[in-house]
Amino acid sequence: MTREEPLGLEAAVAMQFLDRQPGEWYCTDCWAEAVDIDPRTVYRVAVLMATEEAVAAGYQAKVGGPCKICDAMGSKTAEMKGFRSVQSLGRSVKG
Ligand SMILES: [Zn+2]
Repeated sequence: MTREEPLGLEAAVAMQFLDRQPGEWYCTDCWAEAVDIDPRTVYRVAVLMATEEAVAAGYQAKVGGPCKICDAMGSKTAEMKGFRSVQSLGRSVKG
């Protein structure tokens, strides 16, 4: 039995957060904390953001990428970093 939960509103909130800071990378852990959304949800969004469709829409994600927050705290936190990092390319801003 499969249950397909819509990412919906939480995904939109999470992506709007990135839109406000185009070009900044966040790992999934810091992203989830910043937007106060379940890390499993943002992880699923990060997976979707690694697709060509997402890149066309102005987002990208990569495995083991940089993180604005973790990297600023230094290498001590490197092993605690989320598995994926995400970024808004700043192309999806409307109005
Ligand atoms: Zn981080």
